[in-house]
Amino acid sequence: MRLNKFLSTAGVCSRRKADEYIKRGFVKVNSKIVKELGITINPEKDIVEFRDRIIKAQKLVYAILNKPCCYLTQLGEHPEKPTIAQLIKNINQRVYPAGRLDYNVEGLIILTNDGDLAKKIMHPKHELQKVYLAVVKGLIDEELLKKMQKGVMLEDGFAKPDNIKLIKALSNKTQIEIAFHEGRKHLVKRFFLAFNRPIQHLKRIAIGPIALGDLERGKWRYLRQNEIKALLKAINNGG
Ligand code: URA
Repeated sequence: MRLNKFLSTAGVCSRRKADEYIKRGFVKVNSKIVKELGITINPEKDIVEFRDRIIKAQKLVYAILNKPCCYLTQLGEHPEKPTIAQLIKNINQRVYPAGRLDYNVEGLIILTNDGDLAKKIMHPKHELQKVYLAVVKGLIDEELLKKMQKGVMLEDGFAKPDNIKLIKALSNKTQIEIAFHEGRKHLVKRFFLAFNRPIQHLKRIAIGPIALGDLERGKWRYLRQNEIKALLKAINNGG
């Protein structure tokens, strides 16, 4: 395995950062500083140290969580609010959320210790589509839906959904599915607000090929092998 991959898999840093640390002489293999990039090691035999700390090889883990409303997407504790750390205590490896959901938004979060993958999921270049189910205040008729499909200028640039679909008109609110290829902060809330349709409830139901499905609220599960493959493929093919 490449040394930079070993370090990122072990949760030390990203592969790119690992290259930087290797060049700066922070990494030893079998007690010798290596500064050469691209060298490979045997994770079972070689002893790797980062800043004089022995680094243990880690298995790559991919999981999904159905975050309930009113949890912070962060791993540490918070003095007042619950965090997703409380929901994923029993995952054996240390995993990180690949992207955030707002405190009052629920749904799909991908969790992994694969630093490179997490970075790619979050990077706009890889453009993984995220699908949300929203309940907005007020009605949305066909005319407004068409306007929404064309997109709208927000304070940080134009926002155009890939897809927008009416699910159900309720008495004074509308259930709607919307998909974006980007993840600007509060994007979905700001999008609907721009049309004077504030969000009452928001749930993320898919990220690229990964669907939340019927995973119970507050629960997590490992991704299946075919889901991991599909995720890696979608990232490498850009969406
Ligand atoms: N859009 C939002 O407004 N909030 C989220 O958490 C995700 C997308």
